[in-house]
Amino acid sequence: MKDKLYLMIPGPTPVPPAVVNAMSRPIIGHRSAEFAALIGRVTDKLKKVFQTENEVFVLACSGTGGLEAAVANVVSPGDKVITLNTGKFGERFGELARKYGADVDEIKFGWGCDVDIRVVEEKLKADPDIKAVFATHNETSTGVVNDIEGLGRLTAQHQAVLVVDAVSSMGGMDIRTDEWKVDIMVSGSQKAMMLPPGLAFVSVSPKAWNVIEQNKAPKYYFDLIKARKSLGKNNTPYTSAVSLYYGLEAALDMMLEEGLENVFKRHKLLAKATRAAVMALGLELLPALEYASDTVTAVQCPMTVDVNNLRKTLLDKYRVMVAGGQGELKGKIFRIAHMGYTAKADVLLTIAALEMALNECGYKAELGAGVREAQLVFLGEDN
Ligand SMILES: *Cc1c(COP(=O)(O)O)cnc(C)c1O
Repeated sequence: MKDKLYLMIPGPTPVPPAVVNAMSRPIIGHRSAEFAALIGRVTDKLKKVFQTENEVFVLACSGTGGLEAAVANVVSPGDKVITLNTGKFGERFGELARKYGADVDEIKFGWGCDVDIRVVEEKLKADPDIKAVFATHNETSTGVVNDIEGLGRLTAQHQAVLVVDAVSSMGGMDIRTDEWKVDIMVSGSQKAMMLPPGLAFVSVSPKAWNVIEQNKAPKYYFDLIKARKSLGKNNTPYTSAVSLYYGLEAALDMMLEEGLENVFKRHKLLAKATRAAVMALGLELLPALEYASDTVTAVQCPMTVDVNNLRKTLLDKYRVMVAGGQGELKGKIFRIAHMGYTAKADVLLTIAALEMALNECGYKAELGAGVREAQLVFLGEDN
């Protein structure tokens, strides 16, 4: 028998049994009254998690499809836009915007750093023609959280719409779409939302609709105006991912039952324990503590340890899967996710396995030192 797999990567993440059960229900017609009622309920519940009164669309695609939908509907060829690059996913917004013909000003803040709002402010002041600002809330590749509230305060004073990638934070962190004045918020199913891969979620503000209605980019599947027309009748333009909707409702019910406040608190606590544990082992975090993510912790791999060997040891010996670095951080960091269907015991187990794997890879980690620090956090007895 293969040992149980502990999926501690930032997506796809473990799916709760209640969600798996819901998805095994018989398929119904996607144009039936029953399915329309489901879309209506799911939309209302999604709005609660997004903390928005705006429409929230459910698209059948991965998170990047949601990002592409945002870009395709906002960017007309030749538009000036700003993309904020704090890692792999911020970089992706730049790539997408260029594909759709935007005149892109890509601001690079360094991978491991957060967005410096003053830089964005100067750019917006200098050029009133800027049409959109594309930002990442939780930069999964670096474990950095950006100040979306600050960016929203800024873009609200300008013509530019604010488009935010919250794929790896929605469902795990307190994201106030309306209060923060985010025009388009994008998320996906397989991170903190506790679902399998396959869905993207996109909310659209009235300010964004004004831009979308003028948009001249070619698009078909991702046409949000068509999606709006359909959603008005609790429908989708093309075949809905019926089973994933079943799962989505079950996952949303779990979150709302736990209480969003408690969901956010749980993620904060797991992140705090993970950070305390790895630091107790003498390892360094990639981002500064003040903007470290609640859903994924990026750890600098000690120089003497081969990160691939460490990950392989964790997986082969203990069946604990953590992620490596992406792009320029490949070989330099590893990432432990603590998002979605994750609890204290998952963190304790991961840290225990990490302590053993580090020793097996030639790094002298004191056995139990990280676990103890995490335990103290969970007992509320840390410092
Ligand atoms: C996972 C992720 C995405 C989307 O990735 P897909 O593989 O297309 O689902 C986008 N942005 C961030 C921040 C992510 O973590």
